[in-house]
Amino acid sequence: MASYRAPLRDMSFVMRELAGIDEIAELPGFEETAGVLDPVLVEAANFAAAVLDPLNVSGDRAGCTWNDGEVATPAGFKAAYLQFAQAGWVGLAVAAGHGGQGLPQLVFGAVLEMWNGANVGFANCPLLNGGAIEALELAGSDALKQTYIPRLVSGEWTGAMCLTEPQAGSDLAAVRTKAVPEGDHYKISGQKIFITFGEHDLTPNIIHLVLARVPDAPAGTKGISMFLVPKILVDADGTLGERNDVHCAGIEHKLGINANPTCTLNYGEKSGGATGYLIGEANRGLEYMFIMMNAARFAVGIQGLGIADRAYQSALAYAKERIQGRDMASGNPQPVAIIRHPDVRRMLMSMKAQIEAMRALAYVTAASLDLAHKSPHEAVRRRHQAFAEFMIPIVKGWCSETATELCSTAVQVFGGMGYIEESGIAQQYRDAKIGSIYEGTTGIQALDLVGRKLLRDGGASATDIVGKIAAFAATLGGGDPDIGAIKAELEKGVTALGDASAWIGANAGSDANAAVACSVPYLKLWGVVAAGWQMARAAQIAAARIAAGDPDAAFYRAKLTTARFYADHVLSQSSWLQHQIVSGSAAVMRLPDEGYDLDRRAFVNA
Ligand SMILES: Cc1cc2nc3c(=O)[nH]c(=O)nc-3n(C[C@H](O)[C@H](O)[C@H](O)COP(=O)(O)OP(=O)(O)OC[C@H]3O[C@@H](n4cnc5c(N)ncnc54)[C@H](O)[C@@H]3O)c2cc1C
Repeated sequence: MASYRAPLRDMSFVMRELAGIDEIAELPGFEETAGVLDPVLVEAANFAAAVLDPLNVSGDRAGCTWNDGEVATPAGFKAAYLQFAQAGWVGLAVAAGHGGQGLPQLVFGAVLEMWNGANVGFANCPLLNGGAIEALELAGSDALKQTYIPRLVSGEWTGAMCLTEPQAGSDLAAVRTKAVPEGDHYKISGQKIFITFGEHDLTPNIIHLVLARVPDAPAGTKGISMFLVPKILVDADGTLGERNDVHCAGIEHKLGINANPTCTLNYGEKSGGATGYLIGEANRGLEYMFIMMNAARFAVGIQGLGIADRAYQSALAYAKERIQGRDMASGNPQPVAIIRHPDVRRMLMSMKAQIEAMRALAYVTAASLDLAHKSPHEAVRRRHQAFAEFMIPIVKGWCSETATELCSTAVQVFGGMGYIEESGIAQQYRDAKIGSIYEGTTGIQALDLVGRKLLRDGGASATDIVGKIAAFAATLGGGDPDIGAIKAELEKGVTALGDASAWIGANAGSDANAAVACSVPYLKLWGVVAAGWQMARAAQIAAARIAAGDPDAAFYRAKLTTARFYADHVLSQSSWLQHQIVSGSAAVMRLPDEGYDLDRRAFVNA
């Protein structure tokens, strides 16, 4: 199994030449970025390779253990976490005023890709700190902020996001956990399931953000509040006090990400209520959660990118060393490494092209998040906020789905060894799948895209972005055959997006089911074309660099070839996806419920 090496050259290309790190570094609050960018990326790459990567396989094999409510993480995880926290990685993108380093989301995104590529089981833990810090920054009282944010930023304590209940998964309107006021706090009772790092041995305290209902709260999503429930209560002087009544009843045995615990948590089972503190106003919990979800969903998209890149690195190394078969074209009877076989190269190119496309789309979205928060110009902030909000479900849904496919391709490159755990590639395949499930399944991302992003503003955001892609496609040309082919596919993609969006807009009012029946293909269409747009930009830049005699022409030639491959093999799917949406949506609902298993009836001689 190849060890993980961060793809620094491509990261640097995307950050500098596609996502505009120089512009981001000039925004108020990000002035330090230019001076620290390269050292931060190199340090992160070294940490990922030296500390996290060596624990990836052992963590998966050992998994976590539960014993009478206590959860132990795999050997080496605690030491790695302490090193991670001491090095200041938890607070990388947290505002300097809260003790962080205040670096842009664009830098954070690249670093996050490295943590997830090196060891996704580990990477989930600090990610959850980010969610808790953001919730407190957004809506916490001054007292809560002062007590909890510094210790979450330093990594002294970790966070957990506690939404899911047995009857409330995608539909959080069904949350039943109760919160009853008692003096300056609430008594929380109920059960949460599937909570990542809800209990562990890495830190002395764990800060749970819990969704619950206060008495007489309105039914549905408008009656959900958010509470901070520490595992250990914190005394007025900031020291740790009594154990709170939150206990881990067990951990799940899972398909992947075995190095992190997925916990069932009982609140208030022993005393009638765990102590919890209201964050913000009652009944606005889901609203706060949705604001935070942008960051969490973006992070899950990046997670898919990191895992897929690791799988590509392993598949490439294997393809270079595995000797099998002969080179068909040369007629040489000597056996060759499988990378000589066209189909293996097709698989490797398919991975390489889609990984670079995911990276380009995700980092460009991160840059928009930065501009949306920090630009001094309101119009710029608004434009980038709209773009980032539109792209978040696409980055989350398309990158996580694509990552799963690419990890399957990586297993295929390994042949039979890919199916054997010893090769290590099977772990990537298992680890990748969760990305399309948690933080809202792909189906839920697609509903968000259609309902909240496409239809809510009458298609204005979608039309604006499609217009930008079309305007860019018009600038492509100059006689280079690769650029010409990329332009042709991008133009088809523009037509497909326009037609599919218009079809959904025209049908949503009269037939809501038809409008969402192909919402996942619609999300994929956006992923394929928006990432194709970024690959086309990369190709245009690469062609110009090559023409100007850039000293790194080899990198730019590879980029141009990869973008051409993407156009022919991935972007060309746009017509097929458009067809599914415009012509195929009706067939999704046509079969009655009983029609799904008519073929299981006993044989009937008609
Ligand atoms: C390993 C792991 C870690 C997790 N970590 C956390 C955590 O830290 N905190 C937390 O709160 N939760 C966590 N979860 C829970 C996770 O967020 C949920 O599992 C997820 O949101 C899906 O909910 P569900 O499992 O109830 O599936 P369901 O909601 O039952 O969905 C089942 C299927 O139905 C589809 N579906 C459901 N409703 C609709 C709809 N309206 N329209 C279209 N399709 C629909 C879904 O897309 C899915 O395909 C974790 C889960 C796992 C497995």
